[in-house]
Amino acid sequence: MPPLNAAATSSQPFERITRARPVGRACFFPLPSPPYAATAAREVPVIDKRVAIVTGASRGIGRAIAERLAKDGRHVVLVARSAEGLAATDTAIKAAGGSCEVRPCDLNDHAAVQALVDGVAETHGRLDILVNNAGITRDTLLLRMTDEQWDEVIHVNLRSIFVSCRAAIRPMMRGKFGRIVNIGSVSGLSGNAGQANYAAAKAGLVGFTKTIAKEMGAKGITANVIAPGFIETDMTEILGEAVKTAALQNIPVRRLGKPEEIAAAVAYVTSDEAGFLTAQAIVVDGGMTS
Ligand code: NAP
Repeated sequence: MPPLNAAATSSQPFERITRARPVGRACFFPLPSPPYAATAAREVPVIDKRVAIVTGASRGIGRAIAERLAKDGRHVVLVARSAEGLAATDTAIKAAGGSCEVRPCDLNDHAAVQALVDGVAETHGRLDILVNNAGITRDTLLLRMTDEQWDEVIHVNLRSIFVSCRAAIRPMMRGKFGRIVNIGSVSGLSGNAGQANYAAAKAGLVGFTKTIAKEMGAKGITANVIAPGFIETDMTEILGEAVKTAALQNIPVRRLGKPEEIAAAVAYVTSDEAGFLTAQAIVVDGGMTS
């Protein structure tokens, strides 16, 4: 029997993938670049659980998603900037008997995002689930919006997700399984006064995610957006009572959503049984935008 890490020193798995490209058929994929090949060749499954990356896992919706996926038997990689916040999620998951690890990362640093995804795939020999949940707001009316406010939101809420998805699909292809969930927003579907930057990023996520679904469907990889409405988190806490009370008038269930309700949707969309559910923007908003 070969040693468990035999492929770690061999380039064979990677060689097989590149040689297997069909000849004479249109192919949209360029050959992988050599630096990635070096990483990919070392990937060998070393964990029998599905491995999930969840960004923004230090609080709010991301923490609820991480806790739910761990409860469902996934090994969850917890990502955010705050080591303290991540430690709290890590402690809660482990206390409940779940499996997880902390990997702090600032999504503004796109080289770090690439290294994060490559590092998880290399450590565990697999990457099955990617939940791009982290997001920021820099709200103001378009007339007053600065270039910096626009760029910051586009950088964290859209460009970093392009980088993480691009990095994730190769290990997912190798595993012939992948579940990508990008957390959007009803603002990206309907627009919202004061959120030109945020709505543009979230709307961009929809077209981007549907494109991944179309490029990757035959490889066993699904990609969906989950678009929450008003959810009780720090992000909506700053809105003030007047805004929340007004919002309630437009929500048929007459309450804000809970992070756990978004986590439940993510749990299904990332499950093995959801292989036919792809290229969708699934709205979870208590009926607000219906
Ligand atoms: P939140 O409570 O403000 O939490 C945001 C999370 O993102 C935190 O864990 C934060 O951790 C992380 N984050 C922010 N900037 C980061 C960066 N540069 N690098 C790494 N991590 C970063 O937000 P939430 O309400 O849970 O929202 C989660 C997602 O749902 C977002 O994409 C948001 O747009 C979307 N959403 C929320 C609502 C809502 O009503 N709450 C509605 C629609 C959509 P650190 O600060 O530790 O980095």
